[in-house]
Amino acid sequence: MRSEDTPLIRLEDYRPSDWLIDTVDLDIALHPTKTRVRALLGMRPNPAGQPGAPLVLDGDELSLGALRLDGLLIDESAYSATPQKLTLHAPPARRFTLMIDTEIDPSANTKLMGLYRSSRVYCTQCEADGFRRISYFLDRPDVMSVYTVRLEAAKLAAPVLLSNGNLVAAGEVPGGERHFTVWHDPHPKPAYLFALVGGALDHVRQNYVTADGRSVELAVYVEPGKAGRAGWAMDCLVRCMRWDERVFGRNYDLDVFNVVAVSDFNMGAMENKGLNIFNDKYVLADPQTATDGDYASIEAIIAHEYFHNWTGNRITCRDWFQLCLKEGLTVFRDQEFSADERSRPVKRIADVRTLRTTQFSEDAGPLAHPVRPRAYKEINNFYTPTVYEKGAEVIRMLKLLIGDGAFRAGMDLYFQRCDGTAATIEDFLACFAETSGRDLAQFALWYEQSGTPTIVASGRHDAAARTYTLDLAQTTAPTPGQPDKRPVVLPVALGLVGTGGDLPLRTASPAYAGDGVIVLDQPSLSVTFSDVAEPPIPSLLRGFSAPVRLELDLADGDLLRLFAADSDPFNRWQALQTVASRALVAAGRDATKHNALVATAGELAGALGDFLRVQAPADPAFAAQVLRLPGQADIAREIGAHVDPDAIHAAHRGLSVEIGLQLGAHLLVLRDILNTQARYSPDAASAGRRALRNEALGLIALSAPDAGAGLAAAQFSSADNLTDRLAALAAMTLVPGDAREDLIARFAQTYAAEPLVLDKWLMAQALIPEAGTLDRVKALMQHPAFSLTNPNRVRSLIGGFAANLTQFNRADGEGYAFVADIVIALDRTNPQVASRLLGSFKSWRMLEPGRKVLAEAKLAMVAQTPNLSRDVADIAERTLA
Ligand SMILES: [Zn+2]
Repeated sequence: MRSEDTPLIRLEDYRPSDWLIDTVDLDIALHPTKTRVRALLGMRPNPAGQPGAPLVLDGDELSLGALRLDGLLIDESAYSATPQKLTLHAPPARRFTLMIDTEIDPSANTKLMGLYRSSRVYCTQCEADGFRRISYFLDRPDVMSVYTVRLEAAKLAAPVLLSNGNLVAAGEVPGGERHFTVWHDPHPKPAYLFALVGGALDHVRQNYVTADGRSVELAVYVEPGKAGRAGWAMDCLVRCMRWDERVFGRNYDLDVFNVVAVSDFNMGAMENKGLNIFNDKYVLADPQTATDGDYASIEAIIAHEYFHNWTGNRITCRDWFQLCLKEGLTVFRDQEFSADERSRPVKRIADVRTLRTTQFSEDAGPLAHPVRPRAYKEINNFYTPTVYEKGAEVIRMLKLLIGDGAFRAGMDLYFQRCDGTAATIEDFLACFAETSGRDLAQFALWYEQSGTPTIVASGRHDAAARTYTLDLAQTTAPTPGQPDKRPVVLPVALGLVGTGGDLPLRTASPAYAGDGVIVLDQPSLSVTFSDVAEPPIPSLLRGFSAPVRLELDLADGDLLRLFAADSDPFNRWQALQTVASRALVAAGRDATKHNALVATAGELAGALGDFLRVQAPADPAFAAQVLRLPGQADIAREIGAHVDPDAIHAAHRGLSVEIGLQLGAHLLVLRDILNTQARYSPDAASAGRRALRNEALGLIALSAPDAGAGLAAAQFSSADNLTDRLAALAAMTLVPGDAREDLIARFAQTYAAEPLVLDKWLMAQALIPEAGTLDRVKALMQHPAFSLTNPNRVRSLIGGFAANLTQFNRADGEGYAFVADIVIALDRTNPQVASRLLGSFKSWRMLEPGRKVLAEAKLAMVAQTPNLSRDVADIAERTLA
């Protein structure tokens, strides 16, 4: 399908469904290639719809069997059916039942949308519009129904049969080979939250009693033999359930809660009511096969999907334009949970890194869109960092602006008022306007306007008047479809740092909201603080209080003082990042600035030396973040035009080497101090020690390759956990030579039976910043560990390569050609994974002219390929526009 032929769906065209489906009774007889689906729909006209309208049900690659209205076969003249649509021309204007028979082939479903069978497990993925691949339906989130589901399958092939809600019956089918279960979900839900699972699975189980006294049977299902790796996910589930009771007053509302891990899954996980389905990468964990990063991701994603039970399921979205209503809010909730469970500053730093790398780059390129898009051709392409991560930032700003009390009261009101409905952003914001007494009309612009705002700040001290005046101005660059931008509401958390620490903030400015927050809601403003006896250093955007770029011309010396003395840990970290980033941007633009880089390395090493010796051992997780330079993609985005990836890489490597050389002894001492012999534990404190130790290893490997290679090889051999082994491999990939190839081979042997670990092995190699990497990646595609049909493998090897700044952006264009060819090949089987991969081209316009032409040519080649999916055609078209 060519994208031009695809209709554009617009928010302003929304109107309610003409028909409603109150009840859905599904009877599904699972079979690998011939699954029979009978759907009995309890229907009625929607009072809010158009009377007398035909009934048009969505389908996708379906073929209709029998069709009955109130139990009677319908005459063929009364309806028409295509694979995409079932239309009843004149349905009765009353309640009636519609019984629809379809037959589907789960084994042939390589798109992994709807019902599919892979690795011998039947499972479903229905968000956003996969249910229409199972049965004809009003497949839109504002049609909410009560489901009863009977599943039947061969006992041997699928001893476990799960669906949403509570189990109400189970038994054998006469004949003895097949069995069935019946599930009832009393909570009305949209079709995208329907799920089923069938297969031979092991599980762990635990009872849980909610704060309001409901006994819940929790279970985590995994592939046979892997139950020993499900304990962490269960532990996370119990902790996040308690947290949601305590922090948001939300209790779970069914008698069972099931989590199932499957190995072939397009997304991270899916919040189906009472039956969350996960990519196994986000469930399975033990010290030998999961890193500290995996443990933290599992904790965050288990929580995220669980939290959707209220923010997404009990209250769902009216239409897909409101996706951020559930996603941005739920990301905010899972970020808060992780912050409470771990270190709040470290979590914030990690989240801001992700935001800048993924969302700021999206906002700066052709795929920029508002948190609530106004139009789409393919909704699957809008599960983006903007909707998720920026959407979460908007909630965080709202909380800061109205205060904790009004925020919690607003959430309570939202849960009370919108429970059981399909809501909008307006419904949501109205609750907070009510509890805070604020007009949130301008704040709502965050949902409408794309692009990353820039705050330009400057300050001046008047010694005689003992005042300090801060000038703030905001701008947002044009983005596709939005040439003119309006000022948004920006909460700027700040402090004025004097020689003895934070100075008291005294001002009569109406822009000062108290508690160290200025609200910048105009193009520019000035705030004057009184009783400022000494020239302070402004510490702006504490805790990263708004998702913006900040331009503030502080001398390196002032930034180093903030690093040493700021009471806000985020800005301590930010201060050194800014020093490094400025030098990297300068050297990335102009290689003759290398001398400045050496000077900067001296400053950074000077600040880091004391810090690593005195403070780092007490808070290693924070110190690990401090030691890590800004990413190369972030430097490229800051440069913004005529980007030469090789120059950025050279600058980045040069700065790292210099810092490593100057810190050499400190790094070795630090590694010794942190080298406890304690057995592995995934807790945040232990993970922090490993993180810092391994950051140090990376710097040593760059600055003293022989010593680094020796340490890495020794660490690989002595480690009792994957985190340290993988860090050894990553450090070794920086040092070309036989030792590296030996370690790569040893790693593959050690983990030959562990596909999820080999994913990391594939990615580590795909990220090597050397000219030979493309050939290496091509060779790895023939390795038994790789498969083009498994999304995790593709994301690791091909996605890893596309994230390799210098090699994806090879000057000869071969990197673009390779990825473009894979996108085209993959599109035939799995359009969603293909379109994600094509998103790697999103920053092509900022490249220097030579690479730009080559990238554009490959994008055009993809766009002109016949029979593209809607997913890929849409991304190609928008990226080129
Ligand atoms: Zn989500």
